[in-house]
Amino acid sequence: MICENIGVNDAGHLTFAGQDTLFLARQYGTPVYLMDEERIRYNCRLYTQAIAEAFGPGSGAHYASKAASFKHIYRIMAQEGMGVDLVSPGEIATAAAAGFPMEHSCFHGNNKTDWDIAYAMDMGVGCFVADSITELEAIHAQASKRGRRQKVLLRLTPGIDPHTYEAVATGKVDSKFGVAIETGQAEGFVKAALELPGLELLGYHCHVGSQVFDSEGSVYHDAADIMMAFAGAIQAKYGFRMEVLDIGGGYGVRYTESDPYVDIPANLNALAAHLRALAQKLGIAMPKVWFEPGRSIVADAGMTLYTAGTVKRIPGYKNYVSVDGGMSDNPRFALYGSAYTVLSAGRMGQQAQERFDVVGRCCESGDVIQPDVALPQPQRGDILAVCTTGAYNYSMASNYNRIPRPPIVMLSGGESYVAVRRETLEDLLSCDV
Ligand SMILES: *Cc1c(COP(=O)(O)O)cnc(C)c1O
Repeated sequence: MICENIGVNDAGHLTFAGQDTLFLARQYGTPVYLMDEERIRYNCRLYTQAIAEAFGPGSGAHYASKAASFKHIYRIMAQEGMGVDLVSPGEIATAAAAGFPMEHSCFHGNNKTDWDIAYAMDMGVGCFVADSITELEAIHAQASKRGRRQKVLLRLTPGIDPHTYEAVATGKVDSKFGVAIETGQAEGFVKAALELPGLELLGYHCHVGSQVFDSEGSVYHDAADIMMAFAGAIQAKYGFRMEVLDIGGGYGVRYTESDPYVDIPANLNALAAHLRALAQKLGIAMPKVWFEPGRSIVADAGMTLYTAGTVKRIPGYKNYVSVDGGMSDNPRFALYGSAYTVLSAGRMGQQAQERFDVVGRCCESGDVIQPDVALPQPQRGDILAVCTTGAYNYSMASNYNRIPRPPIVMLSGGESYVAVRRETLEDLLSCDV
């Protein structure tokens, strides 16, 4: 199986976190997002323990909560000693409502409005990751108005191609995010931050991209080379010492059996050694290092269950199985062509003779969950499971076709409970006047 939390029980039913998925489908209805709470905590500890050992105090991980944002996830992050990254007033409000200690949050985004900045400051967000000089000025203005100094990191683009999908590569020079080092613009960005008294500059941030399978650590090492050299040059010229280097997120997860495993602790250890050597060579202090894992915290903790409806065979062409959800709860195949593993939860022991495009119920031909899936004898009423849906599914879900969003059911210690209830038709109508 693609993750240890997936199995098959004596009845031949698919299990997730040790629980029978057919039973869960009956209890909660479909479509439903399941989340394995122990797996989320396990993934957090992979980072927190390895970072504590390899980097020491002051370094740490911020969960990139855009991967899955709802109140309970912020409670888990607080309990696991993780910071969080927030990218909108909605995420800030959700974290605050969950009682998350907001001083451990960072506010990201390439276009924070004045209202966003004011709101984030009033909610006590710990650190702003500034994306441009004009944004620095806007942060400074709000901080001055409140008579305080706001901690900031500067988002820089190191000019690295992480060899991932175009849509999730973010560290290239021509990215919409951050200020480029290569063009010389990053130096002016630092100068502006140092000259604004309402700002306390902590250091620099970069994020090379997502779904990085970096077995030799080369992508992060390349980013470290460029960021550390930049920090050294700035220190020599302006005397500013980088206290924090935020190296971003993005280790890859296994969506299919053919995806490789990433040994996260080994990668973190190798990166720590690489950074120490760089610091020594450049004659600068080893910074505190922050990481921003999103997907690798929650993706393999998630599974979506659907009920199959229409099964359609077009002889000589292709076959379809339609399910009771679709791009409204998982737009990732439609957006990026993302691979997923689809299983027939009640037919785990049966051989598949045919292949099917598993498609959603939305009025859109692009509404595909996954094409060309081998499924044994699909029938109306079968439960189909899509694995590894914990990241960027619920958080990217929409009400397209006025379809209510599914609930999130947490699985923990053989128990289950609802963390986000199913949207109702009344919810859908609640904003209409
Ligand atoms: C999305 C994002 C991450 C997390 O990426 P994953 O692939 O989910 O780990 C980290 N940092 C920033 C700035 C991001 O935008």
